[in-house]
Amino acid sequence: MHFESPIKRRISRKIMVGNVPVGGDAPISVQSMTNTETCDVDATIAQIRAIANAGADIVRVSVPSMDAAEAFKSIRKQIDTPLVADIHFDYKIALKVAEYGVDCLRINPGNIGNKDRIREVVDCARDKNIPIRIGINAGSLEKDLQKKYGEPTPAALVESAYRQISYFDELDFQNFKLSLKASDIFMTVAAYRTIASQIDNPLHLGITEAGGLRSGTVKSSIGLGILLMDGIGDTIRVSLAADPVQEIKVGWDMLRSLKLRNRGINFIACPSCSRQNFDVIKTMNQLEERLEDVVVPLDVAVIGCVVNGPGEAKEADLGLTGGTPNNLIYEDGKPSNKLKNSELVDEFEKQIRSKVAQKEKEIENLIAKS
Ligand code: SF4
Repeated sequence: MHFESPIKRRISRKIMVGNVPVGGDAPISVQSMTNTETCDVDATIAQIRAIANAGADIVRVSVPSMDAAEAFKSIRKQIDTPLVADIHFDYKIALKVAEYGVDCLRINPGNIGNKDRIREVVDCARDKNIPIRIGINAGSLEKDLQKKYGEPTPAALVESAYRQISYFDELDFQNFKLSLKASDIFMTVAAYRTIASQIDNPLHLGITEAGGLRSGTVKSSIGLGILLMDGIGDTIRVSLAADPVQEIKVGWDMLRSLKLRNRGINFIACPSCSRQNFDVIKTMNQLEERLEDVVVPLDVAVIGCVVNGPGEAKEADLGLTGGTPNNLIYEDGKPSNKLKNSELVDEFEKQIRSKVAQKEKEIENLIAKS
C-alpha cells in the first residue's frame, strides 16, 4: 500500500525567482549557496553547476563588494539557474547586480541605510520585477532587540521580521519571501509557526549554522521536518558546514521522505545481518553512487534475504531480494529474473537504467498528450 502525504500546505502568495515559482501551489524548491570566492568566477561557476546538477532549483551567491558585483556580471552571463545575490549594508551593490540580471536579492532593508536608499532599491526591484528575501537571523538581531529580549527568542525574531516588513509595507512592496533562522530548532520552529499564521508571503526555511554533514543533517531534518509536516515552507536551504552539493542531496531526501516532492531513486535497503545472501551495504553504496545522475522518481528495494525481501520488493518498481544460490529480482511487484552475486551490481544497474528509460518515455508521452 502506498501512503500519500497527509501534509496540507499553508496557502501563500506566489513569487517568481527567475523562472522558479516560490509559494502558492509551486513545488517546494531546494536551494543552496556557493562558498567559493565570488571574484573567482571560474570556481564559482563550476560550483553553481555542481549544485544545479545535484538538483538545486535556485543558487545563492554572496556579493560582498563591487568587485564581486563585477564578477557576478560574468557569472550571470554563463549560468541559467536562477541566482540570488546575498547583499548586506551597501545598497549600491544591490542596484548593480539588479542591472546585471539577478533573480532575487537577499537583503534586509534595515541594514542598508536611510529610507531614500531603501526606496531606491525597492523601486529598482519593482521596475525589474525582482523579488527580495528578508533574512532574519538570530545571530544578527538588532542591538535594541537583543537588549529588549535579553537573548534571541522567537518573539525577538518575529519582531525583527515585522520591522523589515514595515519598510516594504510603507512602499507597498509585497514581492518578497522571508526567513527566520536560528541554530536552535525550538526557536526556529516557534518563530516560523508564529509568522506563518500572520502573513501570507512565502517562507524560506532553514536551520542556520546547523553543523557538519551528519549533525547538521539531523538537526535540519528535525527542524525543517516539523515545519514541513505543519505545511509551512515554500523553499528550503539546508545549511551544512560541508560541500553545498550535500545540502541539495539532503534537501531532496527530506522532501522525498515527506512525499512533498520526488526526484531520483528512492532506495529502500535493509541494514543487513548474518542472514544476508549478498553484501547489502557494499551493493547499496555502489548503486547509490552509480545512479546519482537519475532524475526520474523510482522506488528500488535492496534487501538481503527473504525475511523482508519479497514484501519490500513487491512494493517497489524494482526489488532485489537475496537468495541462494541466486538472488531474485522483482519488477513491478512480480519476480522477473535471477542474478548471481558476481554480476549483481552491474546487471541490477542495467535493469534500473532500463526502467528509468521506460519511465522517461512514459513521462514524455504524458507531456505530449497534455
Ligand atoms: S532483510 Fe534479511 S538480511 Fe536484511 S536485515 Fe532483515 S533479516 Fe537481515
